[in-house]
Amino acid sequence: MITTKTPVLIRMHDQDNVAVVGNDGGLPAGTEVAPGLTLREGVPQSHKVALVDLAAGDVVRRYNVVIGYAKEALPAGSWVNENRLRLPDAPSLADLPMATAPKPDWAPLAGYTFEGFRNPDGSVGTRNILAISTTVQCVSGVVDFAVKRIKETLLPRYPNVDDVVGIEHTYGCGVAIDAPGAEVPIRTLRHISQNPNFGGEVMVVSLGCEKLQPERLMPPGSIPLTVGTSAAAQPKDNESPWGVLDVVCLQDQQHVGFASMIEHILRQAEQHLKRLNVRQRETVPASELVVGMQCGGSDAFSGITANPVLGFASDLLVRAGATVMFSEVTEVRDGIAQLTARAATPAVAQALINEMDWYDQYLARGGADRSANTTPGNKRGGLSNIVEKAMGSISKSGSAPISGVLSPGARLNGQRGLVYAATPASDFICGTLQLAAGMNVHIFTTGRGTPYGLAACPVIKVATRSDLARRWHDLMDVNAGEIADGKQTIESMGWAMFELLLDVASGRRRTWAEQWQLHNSLALFNPAPVT
Ligand code: CA
Repeated sequence: MITTKTPVLIRMHDQDNVAVVGNDGGLPAGTEVAPGLTLREGVPQSHKVALVDLAAGDVVRRYNVVIGYAKEALPAGSWVNENRLRLPDAPSLADLPMATAPKPDWAPLAGYTFEGFRNPDGSVGTRNILAISTTVQCVSGVVDFAVKRIKETLLPRYPNVDDVVGIEHTYGCGVAIDAPGAEVPIRTLRHISQNPNFGGEVMVVSLGCEKLQPERLMPPGSIPLTVGTSAAAQPKDNESPWGVLDVVCLQDQQHVGFASMIEHILRQAEQHLKRLNVRQRETVPASELVVGMQCGGSDAFSGITANPVLGFASDLLVRAGATVMFSEVTEVRDGIAQLTARAATPAVAQALINEMDWYDQYLARGGADRSANTTPGNKRGGLSNIVEKAMGSISKSGSAPISGVLSPGARLNGQRGLVYAATPASDFICGTLQLAAGMNVHIFTTGRGTPYGLAACPVIKVATRSDLARRWHDLMDVNAGEIADGKQTIESMGWAMFELLLDVASGRRRTWAEQWQLHNSLALFNPAPVT
């Protein structure tokens, strides 16, 4: 553990003219942090110190990137914080390097496996969950009631099924459903119902009069045609035929009273539970992992410890043939030139630019820009602005070529390797959109701390600092702060993360969020108007 007795400054690049205080609790004024460098004022943990005398207007460089310009003279030893920096303009989307970075010469990583649930469409689930989709918020109370009743009365009879989850949301009515942008929330809901952890079983609860009619949510062809991998696994009794949408409509004439609705939902749910229950975990290659990476409640340690660990693990996953998604448009916007250079092809680079451009316009329509991203907690954690935050966030993506780009709410369609799934940075919206893309395991890094979890998918939470990991010892699954403490390296923790992913995917290990059943609500991204 780093104590205040041993001053620690963390510098990311030898061109940087600031470094970050590593000590828990920060360092007081007068501390000699390096030979000839004394703090002119107290500097909190994870905040920046000027290493040289900076004049007003001078560039401030971290990660060898200009993160801002000094608003005033900042002599060496000064605290460099958000009030003393001017934000650079967003980089232009013109004349970017297109797929120019050399491709890494990596040996494939063979022989790694996990125990997963193979689905009829070839995807693999890490959990075996019955999802009940909904067309509209109006039905949520009824679905909540039904899910509770299913868990109490039906689920104990189907021990191979892990859970029952209502896919509830605020969309479906009172929205401009034909407006440009409405396709984003609609396809998000459709694709979530097809998430690998739901085993290809789709059932929908509808109100009846809503704008998002069941056939619009799940048009013909979006329901899996075959379920089960053997004849023995085929359903018996009078179950719904394959490929036909299973809808319980609350306004249907057949329903007289609330009990009738609940009984109908339970009857239909049981058909799906029967089929899910015959599924068994089988050994599958690590290439079947679809890992969604995200950060939230970030601090200046995010880019020093946890996110580089994810980057290392991401490269291992790519070498193993798996799929890794990174997201959060406003947190990569300032690094767009790095990303377009790393694109596998010029077409992928152009797709990245198109997503940035769409999001710039989306923010501008709302009278905002990327600078609206940073939070009070980010700033307390030493992140002065969105440029500095973005440089830490991007390090999650490691060094693999970017092989594909997904628009918000789109689903993976054969892409493998490192994929950029364009989403807002909002934790719940990003997680929701990564579920729609087909994520089967989620990794989430945090410096300030968040108890974030999802009902549909295991979430591995990684603390960026040991202080957070100690205080939240029963919420954080991994302590990447051990890197700053000198106990681990990015490489050793990256390998441990890769192994942990296989264990969590196999169900051998439950995350803290699973253990406590901490689930955030799904949050749709709806760029279209409400009425
Ligand atoms: Ca986030």
